Amino acid sequence: MSATFAILLSALAMTLIVGVRYMASSGGFAWLTSRVRPGLYTELRPQIGREIYWSLLSAAIYGIPAGVVAWGWDNHGWTLIYTDIAAWPLWYWPLSILAYLFAHDTWFYWTHRLMHRPRWFRIAHAVHHASRPPTAWAAMSFHPIEALTGAVVIPALVFLIPIHIAALAVVLTVMTIMGVTNHMGWEVFPRFIVQGVAGRWLITASHHQRHHTDYRCNYGLYFRLWDRLCGTDKGLGSFVSEGGGGTGPLRDAVGGEPGRAA
Ligand SMILES: [Zn+2]
Ligand SMILES: [Zn+2]
Repeated sequence: MSATFAILLSALAMTLIVGVRYMASSGGFAWLTSRVRPGLYTELRPQIGREIYWSLLSAAIYGIPAGVVAWGWDNHGWTLIYTDIAAWPLWYWPLSILAYLFAHDTWFYWTHRLMHRPRWFRIAHAVHHASRPPTAWAAMSFHPIEALTGAVVIPALVFLIPIHIAALAVVLTVMTIMGVTNHMGWEVFPRFIVQGVAGRWLITASHHQRHHTDYRCNYGLYFRLWDRLCGTDKGLGSFVSEGGGGTGPLRDAVGGEPGRAA
């Protein structure tokens, strides 16, 4: 088999995996939503169709770099992914997970802020904010340019930070679950976590919901660290089902002086 064909096959396989993972996780949490918050998505059906369309397109964009790297790992020993658990001390296992989440969060925060500049917002980020309010299906609802900024993160990090294959699976699982639950329209985590000490530093749906209603705040992905350091943290939001949330006008998303990053 030629290398080109093998890379294509690997990219296709990864696209399928990402697509099926999206359908299973978003579908699962959408089903849970129909049990826990009956009727929450009833009026959002046309929007959900668009969310699925953009998300499946994103699956291909995520699948291509992942497929190339997986092929290189398998055939040429690329990347710092290791399979022998004894290759690094055990304490490194959780540390590597934290390092990946922190690096991803940092990249996401700054690219996300950039995409809230008026010009970039219209080009690359308006698709994601067309979900008003978002649903569990919006987890990967990105314009291809935005999808590309997300798709390169893990394939780049595996060349920079050593990680055990199972730790990488944990990172991908956290990424998937948080991507879905943060857009679900209700809080899945218990109040003692969201309102407690952990919630002051961790991002859950209550935090990201505020980004979708107020736009120019709460840019983070997993941690509130960058938002707090940069003064863009506006605290937790509320949900439509609780009488809050709702839809902010598009001009809020791109308002303010163009030169101001927020
Ligand atoms: Zn945004
Ligand atoms: Zn979002």
